[in-house]
Formats: sequence, C-alpha cells, structure tokens
Amino acid sequence: MSERTSDESERRSADAFDIASAALGSSEAAARAFQAPDNPEMIRAAVNPGPKNLALMNAQPDAYFPPPTDHGLPPNFWQSYGMAHRRIQPGGWTNQLNVTDFPISTDIAGVQMALTPGGIRELHWHVQDEWAIMLSGHARITILDADGHMFIDDLGQNDLWYFPAGFPHSIQGLNPEGCEFLLVFDDGMFSEEDTTLVSDWLKHVPREVLAKNWGVPIDKIAPAMESIPFGGKYIFQESVPPSLEVVRTAANRGRSPSSSQFTFRFKDLKPQKEDRGGRVHIVDSTTFKVAKKIAMAHVTVHPSALRELHWHPRANEWQYYIAGKSRMTVFFNHSQARTANFQSGDVGFVPATLGHYVENSGNEDLVFLELFKSHVYQDVSLNDWLTHLPPDFVKQHLNISQEVLDAIPPGNYGILPR
Ligand code: MN
Ligand code: MN
Repeated sequence: MSERTSDESERRSADAFDIASAALGSSEAAARAFQAPDNPEMIRAAVNPGPKNLALMNAQPDAYFPPPTDHGLPPNFWQSYGMAHRRIQPGGWTNQLNVTDFPISTDIAGVQMALTPGGIRELHWHVQDEWAIMLSGHARITILDADGHMFIDDLGQNDLWYFPAGFPHSIQGLNPEGCEFLLVFDDGMFSEEDTTLVSDWLKHVPREVLAKNWGVPIDKIAPAMESIPFGGKYIFQESVPPSLEVVRTAANRGRSPSSSQFTFRFKDLKPQKEDRGGRVHIVDSTTFKVAKKIAMAHVTVHPSALRELHWHPRANEWQYYIAGKSRMTVFFNHSQARTANFQSGDVGFVPATLGHYVENSGNEDLVFLELFKSHVYQDVSLNDWLTHLPPDFVKQHLNISQEVLDAIPPGNYGILPR
C-alpha cells in the first residue's frame, strides 16, 4: 500500500468516526468510553466506515461507545414501543411487547392503548391479571366482581386500575381528548389477540342456544349476531357515554355496587421517598388491596441524579419510561455487564437479584415505572447494606479508605444525591 493510499484510508476512517460521534451529539459518550477524548488508538479502533442506522445509534450512545466497565455479551434488556407494530381501527389503537419481541421478559407483558372520545375496548376478560396506569386523557372502566357486583369509575392521568384474571371488564375514552394508557400483565406470553371478546364468543354460539339462553325468539337475535364482524369488535367507535352517576344507576338496577376498589388515585399518594435528587411512589397490595400480583414504583429522577445501585431480591423488574433520558447498566455476574439507554416509550428489564442503577443522562426529569410480578415492592440498597456491616470488614473487601466509607449515604434513599 502506497503512503498516499494509506493517508487517504486513514482520513476516510477518521471521517467515519467523526460522522458517527457527531451524530451521537459529539463525543461525550466516546470520551467516557475511552476515558480520554483524544485517545488516538481507541479512536482509530472505533472507526465505523460501513452502513449505519444513525437514529438508533443516537438513541443508544452507550451501546455504540460502551463504558470501559462493560464486558461480555449479556442478553438485550431494551425494547421500545417506538418499534412495536400498531393495530389501528376506528375507536383507537394498541401495540404490545411480549416475549415474542422482548424474549428476556418471561413473566410480564405490556400493552399501550389509546381510545378516542367514545372509543371502546370491548367487554372482555383473560387468563392474566391486568394492571394499568393512565398516561393521558380520561377513561371510564367497568368491571364485574366475583360476587356479581358492578364497579364503574372514571379515571385521569396517573390513576391506576387492576382487573383480576377472568373478571369481565371494559374501557372507554371520554371527552375531550379520549385517553392513552399502559396495561401490564403478569405473564410474558400474554397477547391482546388472545382475550375473550363477548361479541366474538356470542357470534359462535348456535343461534337457537343463544335464543334459549336469553328467552327470546331466534329471529330477534340472529340479525344482530350476523352483523358482528368475524373476530369480534375488539376496539370500536361509539358516542361518549352520559355521566358516571347516570350509568352507575342504570347498570346496578337496584343492586348494590361492588365493595371492592378496582381503581387507585395515584395523585393522592404521598411519595415514600423524596429527596433533592427526586422521588419514589410505591403502590402495591399493601395500599391497593386488589393489586395482588403486580407491584409498582413510580420514579422521578432529577437531571444528573441517580436511582442508586440496588437489586430486587425476588422479582424481575419490567420498566416503562415515561419522560426524560437515562442510562442503565445491569451486572449479570461472572464479570458480565451491559449498558443501555432509555427514553420515553422505551421498555427495560432487569432479572431478579441482578445489581443495577438508573442514571438521569438528560436535561429534564427522568420519569419511569418499575413493575414487578409480586404482591409487594422490595429492593435492597448497596449503600444501606455496606454502611451497616463492620467497617473494617467492608474495607477488607473493597480496598476503600475510612474516608470513602464515611461518605457513603447510610440508608436506602432510592435516589441520590439526597
Ligand atoms: Mn383486559
Ligand atoms: Mn430496580
């Protein structure tokens, strides 16, 4: 190779690196990864003249320029609703992430759904428990409890609901803007395509049996069943319903409403942890009685603050990112560590017992949900543990000084700095 060709090739390589790092908002991640922005050997090693998906590289700077503490190839624990197939039909849309698209999450599946004002998610039920949080707008839910009593409620942003397996329920968008919400199921195999739809079922009951069941002549119901689309209605457009009081009275027909509370006013909750760095709201079956299989922490981390190093002793963590930007490193034991970046609409997963942190890497508040297939929320703080052991014993393990040990916040504060 002539000297000139070698120069040209070097320049082309440097250009490819510059293009990639410029696309990633210059070289903050690169500098962090190489521990020096001008490390020429590492910059030469990192050139990437081939094809690039710059949009994804921008979203995942810590995958493109991993921190030097990362090692090995632990499984992917990032997914995004931004890449999920959407089913859109009159009345609203839905998309889901279950084990098909996010194989690491075997025990939790999540669904985003939106309904127009009047749009209905059809009366249905399923094998899994359903937990939900309202992301925007207003919705009305109905559910029949195990004793045959009806519960109907209207919900706004950050309100929760919980529908136990097999209990029939519905959701409808209200004025003025309809609604969007996140559904979480206690089984990674859950699919929106596998719920029992009342219209789909009844279309497939012999007409004479349905007529006998309802005590009406067959010609009174046959045309209605014929008019139901094959596969059921699922999501469909109707007019916005009357007030809550009107429909509650009409639905109960003199029977008392359910004594169970299937909804939870999240905005009334005082944060369990609140410090300079942010706050944590925890909702599990100790406060939201019916939520027997899904526990939640709603976490707000201010810019540059850290959801501290911790782990969850029993349950896997399924994360949903509402706002802001973050990076998270999960340690998979035997020296394996992987870092990924998250922003609104993304989903993360941390297997039970594996150590991790979540750092706000953006300029605005980071807001995300930690969800667990569990009746209670539980975590273990690294700092809380280390500061309650014999000090010399800790120093023998980590080779740190007394000064460092004295500086460690002596508790489980959730978010740091305090
Ligand atoms: Mn459901
Ligand atoms: Mn966690």
